[in-house]
Amino acid sequence: MKVVKIIGFLVICLLAFTCKTRKEDQVVEHDDFRHARPPRQEGGRRPGPLGGGNRVRNYVATDSDEAVEKLHPAFEAFNKEATDIFLSNNGKTVTIETTGLPDHETVYWGKNHELYRDEPSVERTPSIMSSNNNAISLVVDAAPNLSGNTINTNMGTIGVAVSGASIFNDQEGGGALDRAAASLDWTGGHIGPGVYHYHLEPKAFSYNDDKLVGILRDGVFIYGRKCFESGDYPTDLDASGGHTGVTQYSNGKAEYHYHIINELYSTTGSYIVFAGPYQGY
Ligand SMILES: [Zn+2]
Ligand SMILES: [Zn+2]
Repeated sequence: MKVVKIIGFLVICLLAFTCKTRKEDQVVEHDDFRHARPPRQEGGRRPGPLGGGNRVRNYVATDSDEAVEKLHPAFEAFNKEATDIFLSNNGKTVTIETTGLPDHETVYWGKNHELYRDEPSVERTPSIMSSNNNAISLVVDAAPNLSGNTINTNMGTIGVAVSGASIFNDQEGGGALDRAAASLDWTGGHIGPGVYHYHLEPKAFSYNDDKLVGILRDGVFIYGRKCFESGDYPTDLDASGGHTGVTQYSNGKAEYHYHIINELYSTTGSYIVFAGPYQGY
């Protein structure tokens, strides 16, 4: 009788373990990223990014074989304190490593930080920058592949902004963003759960203008609501907010890029950064 009980217990343990493993696999597949960890250093500690925690979220998504010789000039505009950006894979890809910590004010810095901004109307989520791991590593095509099908964005980081922080889409925890809108700070960002990220036009560095906003996971740059070439709101955008034209970083050449679409989102009084789909995968 005792032996039967022990065997039963072991079977239950095995089943529980299998289910857990399967579930984790599904999450990774669904989110299309890998939780790769940096190698251990001497003493067993992993190099932790600023902001606590020791896990760097790695996003690798590439399909273009075209190589480039140097970084696109637009990368010069990224926050140098937060980001480390370099060519990888023999010039076929660009690796963007960031602490995820932006160079602007927000209530999410927490009271004792020099960039803390008092925002009484924001229903702040529990985390602040220093209690959070905001680090991201992104590998994108150096030359985006604009042929083939479009791909919908997923939850989580869909791009890195020039501030160094993450860009998310128009969803929050599987639902529409409206429900979380009260927790967004003055520049359309918040924490939680996960990294600090923007959903809405990031006014701290692009507000009703043609400024560079960031780069998305398909390797395509995204700009503000206006276009450099016309100085006005573009009228020829595709479903993703993209079109081909000259930008302030394209050396006079026309290239495909996205804009924040100039349509107010719900009751937020602001504009969604990017709702997709990706054109450059
Ligand atoms: Zn969010
Ligand atoms: Zn444009």
